[in-house]
Amino acid sequence: MDDLLSGALGRLDEAAKYVEVDSEVLEKLKYPKETLSVRLSVRMDDGSRRSFPAWRCRYDDTRGPTKGGIRYHPSSNVEEVTTLAFWMTFKCAVMNLPYGGGKGAVKVDPHSLSKSELERLSRAYVQAFAGMIGPDRDIPAPDVYTNSMIMGWMADEYSSIVRQPSPAVITGKPLPLGGSLGRDDATARGGYYLIKHLETELELANSPKRVVVQGYGNAGFHIARLLHADGYRIVGVSDSRGAIVCEDGLDPQAVQAAKERGGSVTAFADGRRVRAVSDDEMLATPCEILVPAALEDQIHTGNAGSIKARIVLELANGPVTPEADRILEKKGVIVLPDILANAGGVTVSYFEWVQNRQGYYWNLTEIHERLRAIMETEGRRVWDLGSAKGISMRTAAYAHALERLSSAIAAHGTKPFFVG
Ligand code: NAD
Repeated sequence: MDDLLSGALGRLDEAAKYVEVDSEVLEKLKYPKETLSVRLSVRMDDGSRRSFPAWRCRYDDTRGPTKGGIRYHPSSNVEEVTTLAFWMTFKCAVMNLPYGGGKGAVKVDPHSLSKSELERLSRAYVQAFAGMIGPDRDIPAPDVYTNSMIMGWMADEYSSIVRQPSPAVITGKPLPLGGSLGRDDATARGGYYLIKHLETELELANSPKRVVVQGYGNAGFHIARLLHADGYRIVGVSDSRGAIVCEDGLDPQAVQAAKERGGSVTAFADGRRVRAVSDDEMLATPCEILVPAALEDQIHTGNAGSIKARIVLELANGPVTPEADRILEKKGVIVLPDILANAGGVTVSYFEWVQNRQGYYWNLTEIHERLRAIMETEGRRVWDLGSAKGISMRTAAYAHALERLSSAIAAHGTKPFFVG
């Protein structure tokens, strides 16, 4: 997993070739500012006590309070948390949000816990990290296997500790507890707006519109729903238990209903039109857009060569390894990188934080229009930078973010300022 962080730092070095950046800036961005590791001790329903490793990392806060989700996953670890916090630093800078990057996780399989155990674990997380998080310091949000209800418990626990309501400490909350309209599908919607804005450049306007989605959770389901409603054909989807393909196209709502009933998208397979296949077979299905929306490192040297998509829309964080990136680039696949493509989630989280602080709430049309405006502005800048310099969208997105981070870090002065 150390590889994950070194891969991420490699992308920073690559971007630095295209931006005038002081070596001090690069040095600062190579290390997290603050990481806290704890063990959460939780009373289980059967009376026993169990402890779970948990982390929170604030990677860099030069541009503002740190922002980033909390993940519950059995294979979470501190390197993954640090890398995700690094990516958040760049994601917030790409979108010009007044935030630095952070991330948190608990090493747990949340599906093995009862609802009461899940609530106690979530409250224990906030008790452990109450000194680290805060509306002006570090603002968590949902990530893999955490949801709005968990965010509501966490905001409530924090409010009890600071003895006043403090909704702006966490985003992704339920609507009646200060959540924002539009947060539920924001990650997918941002990616969708990006695709629509660049439809001509991506040569999608007059081509077939087949889509494969890996990971059918929040991000994956909503992107399938939005693209399907816009005339795209969803020809394959998967989740942690398996994958299905259907050349004629799947109805995302019907797949979701089958998943809710049967625990997996494979419950929608009928052995005729809709076939259950392996994840790698699904990834190799001919399509125009492949959307990785599960976890990191899913597209690697072992399967990148067989991908037939023209465009990869990274809704997951870090789904393509650096080696796979090179394979895809050689094949002419355009990768719309995570720090841009899935930034709709943190952007609407930012809107939620702003609304909590001003105590005035926007309607859904306002949320969508503001999100669309930011996605289009920053997406266009990254596209233009990539075209002008002849570099990939990933390197262009990192370079664009690095310019903003660099000017903020350098505004405190670097060596040339102090010694002339
Ligand atoms: P989620 O928990 O709602 O869904 C994750 C889905 O991925 C589940 O359906 C799970 O079954 C599936 N999955 C897990 N392992 C898999 C595998 N090996 N192959 C195929 N499917 C697999 O999570 P989410 O919020 O949709 O997040 C998905 C990704 O998007 C993560 O990388 C997350 O960091 C990223 N992301 C999420 C948000 C957000 O706001 N939710 C924002 C930015 C980025």
